[in-house]
Amino acid sequence: MSIATDYRCGFVAVVGRPNVGKSTLINAIVGRKISIVSPKPQTTRHRILAVHTTDTHQFVFVDTPGLHRKAGRTMNRLMNRAATNALADAEVILFVSDATRWHVEDDDVLKRIADCGAPAIAVMNKIDLVHPKSELLGRIAAMAERHPFAEIVPVSARRKDNLPSLVDTLATYLPQSPPLFPDDMLTDKSEQFLAAELVREKLTILLRDELPYGITVQIERFEPESDADDARVVIHAVIWVERASQKGIVIGKGGDMLKQVGRAARMDIAKQLGRSAHLELWVKVRENWADSEKDLRSLGFETP
Ligand code: GDP
Ligand code: MG
Repeated sequence: MSIATDYRCGFVAVVGRPNVGKSTLINAIVGRKISIVSPKPQTTRHRILAVHTTDTHQFVFVDTPGLHRKAGRTMNRLMNRAATNALADAEVILFVSDATRWHVEDDDVLKRIADCGAPAIAVMNKIDLVHPKSELLGRIAAMAERHPFAEIVPVSARRKDNLPSLVDTLATYLPQSPPLFPDDMLTDKSEQFLAAELVREKLTILLRDELPYGITVQIERFEPESDADDARVVIHAVIWVERASQKGIVIGKGGDMLKQVGRAARMDIAKQLGRSAHLELWVKVRENWADSEKDLRSLGFETP
């Protein structure tokens, strides 16, 4: 690819309280599942880069964990720090909110944006849920009162409504710069990371309200079965919980829950990696890891 001198590239921090659709939005723009999504808040724990490259622009989206009010536990503090760092590095901010309701936690996030100085675009997501559509005008006006946003763009990430227009708008805020990443790079995370995240996504979806707070997934083995190009990949993963009682919940009656999680995860991993997968899961107990920086580091969290 020859690179024009007027090429534009920059970091776009995607922020907002948990569950407003940040990860869904990024996946929809990039066109692949890079960040896992679930109906439960607080699914995204790590900072994830998603790179969208065109002939004229490279957008480096930074998906952040939602900012947490209860920052008491070490894991929550690390997640808050990841979100704050993303803001400091960004050329432009996408402030994502749920168009159907405003929440006090949205105000908390707005305060952080006000402190950081980069232009902010308000993305009002989930407009597929706003009825009648005429409601939207009043809500956009209310949004304009809350902060001097550079732009306000209503979208539905799930239905991919108005996303091209959002991307066009965003493009005008990127500085002139050659691309920072190779044009075939979609994310800074490995296939192993994605596999672990997909197991966690299925746990979140299938366990719902029974999902233990401290659950996490660690890949212990990840390798193709043979040298053949289409060899299936063999994956061994450990699901860590904090208490013995949680182990039973994850395994389920007669091992049913773990089987369901394994099946759903294997299918999605195969789909995302584009080759078949053999997945084995174990459930193990490590007490209070979510309060220990050392344990968090060994499980892939970024600690200072
Ligand atoms: P995040 O925590 O901000 O990253 O939010 P997620 O991307 O994980 O999405 C949270 C929930 O909102 C999931 O159940 C999504 O399917 C749902 N969601 C995301 N975007 C939309 C949308 O445009 N419309 C509707 N109806 N639901 C959405
Ligand atoms: Mg997310």
